Amino acid sequence: MLWRMIESFEFKGPEAGPAVLFFGAIHGNEVCGPKAIRRFVDELQSGVRSLQKGSVTFVPVCSPRAYEANTRYCEENLNRIFKRTENPTSYEAALANELAPFIERCDVFLDLHSMTASGKPFIFIDFPSDATHALARSLPAEMAIVGWPELYKRPETEHDSFDTTTYAAEHGKAGLLIECGQHEDPEAAEVAYRAIENTLIHCGVLLGNAPENDLTIIEMDRVFFRKSEAEKFAKDWQHLEHVNKDEILFYDENGAPVTAPYDAYVIMPKESAKVDEEWLYLGKKISA
Ligand SMILES: [Zn+2]
Repeated sequence: MLWRMIESFEFKGPEAGPAVLFFGAIHGNEVCGPKAIRRFVDELQSGVRSLQKGSVTFVPVCSPRAYEANTRYCEENLNRIFKRTENPTSYEAALANELAPFIERCDVFLDLHSMTASGKPFIFIDFPSDATHALARSLPAEMAIVGWPELYKRPETEHDSFDTTTYAAEHGKAGLLIECGQHEDPEAAEVAYRAIENTLIHCGVLLGNAPENDLTIIEMDRVFFRKSEAEKFAKDWQHLEHVNKDEILFYDENGAPVTAPYDAYVIMPKESAKVDEEWLYLGKKISA
């Protein structure tokens, strides 16, 4: 199996301190991370910025082949199979083996993503703790989603999720994932850039003041996988759009309506999902 070496950049401050890690393009078509990371790396290399303490490592493109093809993944979703395996059976499984050591070596980890639907940036706090909440409040987003790991552990979900933040949590790291905006929206790269800056300030690696935002927290409750090409959304759902109990979410392959079981928020709707991919999620607001 041939693949390009994974490119990474590391910078060290003059004193000991936290090791911070950023991943871009775990999904190949999510270009905000690579753009923001390259801009930040340029600023550190040229001396426009310098670190106060600790270190920062950047992996601008975690999935080079998918990035070149501008596609989410080549063989398997890297962010559902992220774990070490002895005999990797796919391109992404081999990538996971290459990328896992970066997470094992860091203290704080941020995974930069973008999404298909348009909507405001938001954060996944998959492993809530004082450390992850404090980091989340420093990021350029107003909303955070909790409950992803619990949702994927339920037997009725019937799919696993081995992802980067799970891997980080298993190794005792504070890890978050930020969805910076819509894939093609240039603003998403700005959000990713500010997320890098604020994370480094929050950790004391850069000097400055990081915000402490109030976050609206939505708890994931349900995932619908697309079962057939014949399924159709009832409307052009926006990310984090409110849906009332009994409102039609989509029509199944027989044209029968599938309705919301309760008042909820639609999360990451993906009209173009392939069969067996995530189609949409539902969540409930638990705090504002
Ligand atoms: Zn992604």
